[in-house]
Amino acid sequence: MIIHLPIDLDIEQVRALAEDASALWVRKHDKYVLITHSSVKELPPVLQDVAQAHWVLSTDMQLSSRAYDSHTHRITIGDTYIGGDCKNQLMIAGPCAVESREQLEQSCQMLKQQGIRVLRAGCYKPRTSPYTFRGLGEDGLKLLAEMRDKYGLLIATEMRDATHADKVVEYADIVQVGAKSMYDHGLLTAAGQSGKPVILKRGFGSTLQELVNCADFIMSCGNDQVILCERGIRSFETNTRFTMDLCGVAWLKEHCNLPIILDPSHAMGCAYGVGDLARACTAMGVDGLLIETHPNPAIAKSDAPQQLDHQQFAEMYASLKTIAQAVDKNLV
Ligand code: PEP
Ligand code: MN
Repeated sequence: MIIHLPIDLDIEQVRALAEDASALWVRKHDKYVLITHSSVKELPPVLQDVAQAHWVLSTDMQLSSRAYDSHTHRITIGDTYIGGDCKNQLMIAGPCAVESREQLEQSCQMLKQQGIRVLRAGCYKPRTSPYTFRGLGEDGLKLLAEMRDKYGLLIATEMRDATHADKVVEYADIVQVGAKSMYDHGLLTAAGQSGKPVILKRGFGSTLQELVNCADFIMSCGNDQVILCERGIRSFETNTRFTMDLCGVAWLKEHCNLPIILDPSHAMGCAYGVGDLARACTAMGVDGLLIETHPNPAIAKSDAPQQLDHQQFAEMYASLKTIAQAVDKNLV
């Protein structure tokens, strides 16, 4: 259940009421919002005289549900935004990992030339083999910060675990929680306290309900700037890296009030399918795309097979424009 309380209540009183009702609480500019487990169906007696409004919800997708708030959250990204009443589709692109200054310079020049606002590249890479490149860590974050200053791009980058969450939050404009750490409660808490927009990637073995519960986890820590990312789930198919769950995206659009971006690069795992998938995703009218592109994919230190080279990226991006127009979306 979600309960609204008036903003003029004393904060100690709100704390005590929340404790009595076994509820979490967050402060908004015009109200306090208490959230109990969704099994609570009757307004707790202690709240009966103070509640302004309440919502009985069927699952723990509460703050992120359209049943509570039917409007898609508006999230500011630099000088633009996604969600709300806008029709923007945001392109987030860059190499899988920060590898060197020279590589990043080439990436940034290409992104600027294409009019793209957000550079995404990882410095803490979650890898399935311990013997592969794990990222440059803080040195990589410093390079990203340098590029932001030089090229005026916004920086999206992943925090892989809570040991470096503070550093990532300090440097990033958009914080990414990766598929492999979707359930990490230390990370979700750090993302919830970061004050930055968060890209929450769906775990490849996670249901939609589990994804939105994790989104609620972040939001119940006081941060409602959450962007969901579908990046493919594991199915019985082995010829492609993952299976992009577009049915799931349709479900999220219907039931969840958060903007949704799609990541065809990780879903496909091979560069050749990424353009087609990006066009299909754009036709679904989503809020953004995340595409991996590298100046020389053949020598990329992570996710080499799926990264587009700059020529392929430019062709793919150009092909999205007419599709975006046809579904009344505006590429930003
Ligand atoms: C990534 O974004 O580079 C990444 C590792 O993706 P995912 O978390 O979706 O596997
Ligand atoms: Mn990658």
